[in-house]
Amino acid sequence: MTLMSRRTFAVIPAAGTGRRFGGDTPKQYLLLNGVPLIRHTLQALLADPRIECVVVVLAPDDTAWNEGCLPSTGADRIRLIRAGGATRADSVVNGINWLKENIQVDTQDWVLVHDAARPCLAPALLTALIDGLIDDPVGGLLAIPVADTVKRADAALRVDATVDRKGLWQAQTPQMFRIGPLREALMTGDRALMTDEASAIEGLGLKPRLVQGSLSNLKVTYPEDLALAGMILAASATRSAT
Ligand code: C5P
Repeated sequence: MTLMSRRTFAVIPAAGTGRRFGGDTPKQYLLLNGVPLIRHTLQALLADPRIECVVVVLAPDDTAWNEGCLPSTGADRIRLIRAGGATRADSVVNGINWLKENIQVDTQDWVLVHDAARPCLAPALLTALIDGLIDDPVGGLLAIPVADTVKRADAALRVDATVDRKGLWQAQTPQMFRIGPLREALMTGDRALMTDEASAIEGLGLKPRLVQGSLSNLKVTYPEDLALAGMILAASATRSAT
């Protein structure tokens, strides 16, 4: 049986303060190759025309959002809501609730959740994620196999153990799930413990599918990540111009 084709939406949680990054300006607003970081993120998600609408969840007291954050094309598909919560999962659930209340979404429609702080998502990767999951019963996420040896530290920063990296993957975003089950998972689980949507879905006893991501789809977390993200974006602009 082929599943009915479904509509696709996106939510960008953008209400973090960037504690690990430091500084007064939240990292999503730092200038990256001359424009606010979040503009690159929005442009990346809007590249796939299947995404009907992108809900950007800002902190209620956000004063940094400005017109310069909007990409030059596709901005009519963006909806801004000032409904960020205490945790990332709270911000995501508020974005999904907005979709449910303002657009006639079906519980089986898709929502892609993507970190505001991942500006280098390549259009081909986004397309591969959607193509790979559109008929999946559960959904899934971009992720990359762990390449380095993994250590567990003790409180004194000495190695307690080496963790077997076989079968370990690093979760990225976008993460793509059906709106109904994702909302249920986020509403019923302990949101303080959820660092991504997949962990919420796993809490329902479901198994999200892993889709090969890319190291270039990095999350800007520490100051040195910003320069790296700038180089990745510049390199991809050069490639598409040649
Ligand atoms: O802090 P971290 O890098 O894990 O945040 C991932 C994403 O979640 C960022 O885009 C951040 O703005 C967002 N976030 C949020 N609400 C929070 C915390 C984080 O929207 N309370």
